[in-house]
Amino acid sequence: MPGKEVQSINPANGDVLETFTPLTPAGIEAALDKAADRFRSWRNVPLSERAELLNLAADVLEAKAADYARDITLEMGKPLAQAEAEVKKCASACRHYAEHGPAYMQDLTYQTEAHRAFVRHLPMGPVLAVMPWNFPFWQVFRFATPALMAGNVGLLKHASNVWRSALNIEDVFRRAGFPDGCFQTLLIGSGEVEGIIRDDRVRAVTLTGSGPAGRSVAAIAGDSIKPSLLELGGSDAFIVMPSADLDNAVKNAVTARIQNSGQSCIAGKRFFVHADIYDTFAKRYTAAFDALTVGDPMKADTDVGPLATLTIRDELADQVDRSLKGGAVRLTKERTVPGKGAWFAPQILADAHSGTPSTDEEMFGPVANLWKVTSLDDAIARANRSVYGLGSVLFSKDEAEIDQAVRELEAGATFVNSMVASDPRLPFGGIKQSGYGRELAADGLHAFMNRKTVSIA
Ligand code: NAP
Repeated sequence: MPGKEVQSINPANGDVLETFTPLTPAGIEAALDKAADRFRSWRNVPLSERAELLNLAADVLEAKAADYARDITLEMGKPLAQAEAEVKKCASACRHYAEHGPAYMQDLTYQTEAHRAFVRHLPMGPVLAVMPWNFPFWQVFRFATPALMAGNVGLLKHASNVWRSALNIEDVFRRAGFPDGCFQTLLIGSGEVEGIIRDDRVRAVTLTGSGPAGRSVAAIAGDSIKPSLLELGGSDAFIVMPSADLDNAVKNAVTARIQNSGQSCIAGKRFFVHADIYDTFAKRYTAAFDALTVGDPMKADTDVGPLATLTIRDELADQVDRSLKGGAVRLTKERTVPGKGAWFAPQILADAHSGTPSTDEEMFGPVANLWKVTSLDDAIARANRSVYGLGSVLFSKDEAEIDQAVRELEAGATFVNSMVASDPRLPFGGIKQSGYGRELAADGLHAFMNRKTVSIA
């Protein structure tokens, strides 16, 4: 019996876009069998052929970027230009692993008494990826391209509001000519995840999403003694010191917070600005927020579209209310947003007290939290008070401050004089409750590989 039908809803206006029928238990069983069968041959496909297929996938992504982007925007509301940029970034990840994958997987030689000793990088098998809706293509390709290059096969359980995109991703690999079963989209709910992780045919699991989902998946993976990788939430600190180029700092602070309509794990969410420049920064930052265009995500001049669902909007509205009741002050102007759909006006909250959502929770939408700090020590101490540790930003030209921030900010990344961005050439991941493990670059490829030690006497 298939489960309950799942609808895609356009968050800009509440229209039902499409209705999907989830996989039946028999369908899941067939997909797992297919993945296990395909792995036995895919693991032996030469690296040059895997690379060639990834380049073909990049070609498909580039050729069909406009179509895939349109579906992304319809399903989750991000401005169309950002959706198209996301699809093209996926092509760059394919090309990165096609070019560098073979070098990342070279044998590592060791000197012992043996005739030869080395580590060989071997794939693990079918890997389950549980993915979120906010970057419906990028999060999946970030996992899938190194996994396929490594010789693994992928099983995708995508977020339930972006199933058209989930099917489009499968379409990319099919069009590129990947053998059937290398990458399969499973239209399933989160209730099916446990059984799949526990299944012997599945060898590892990766999840990008919220803390509760990560905790559950990691517990099941731990109980099954299977490797897991977690990319969870963040509440990144963005620190601005007096020596910073203020124009650049303000520009980055806006984009860092409102990109993807504020729904990014590595968005700057808490802004700590030195007292010497605070008033100027706050004035310019507020003016920039007030000038943002909020509206139809299909239009080219839109900066901020709707949030992805009504539930997300309601949760954010509740967080903002609680922060305001807890002492925060709203700096941005009141603005009206379309009534129907998951709309939320971008805003800046200043001076929120500790113990409020502004300090303690991830705010997943276009809300910036701003505080005045007396020193870099003060900024770092406040930054590190978060349970999260994903990205962090420092704007400063002072080498001693840069060195201190790199050493002391508790985060998986520190970007200096630019906002945090993921890049196929750089490892990506968090610490503390932002998760564990690294994606992208060589680390992302090695994440799900057996680094086999070989000693030949
Ligand atoms: P979510 O509710 O955790 O959903 C993410 C995925 O997990 C979806 O496919 C969801 O399926 C599934 N899921 C939810 N509960 C589950 C459970 N108990 N067991 C197994 N699977 C489960 O996350 P979200 O709210 O959609 O996404 C936003 C969060 O992701 C934010 O916290 C954001 O910061 C984080 N994120 C992190 C990164 C990173 O790289 N660190 C990147 C992007 C987003 P259903 O849709 O069917 O419920």
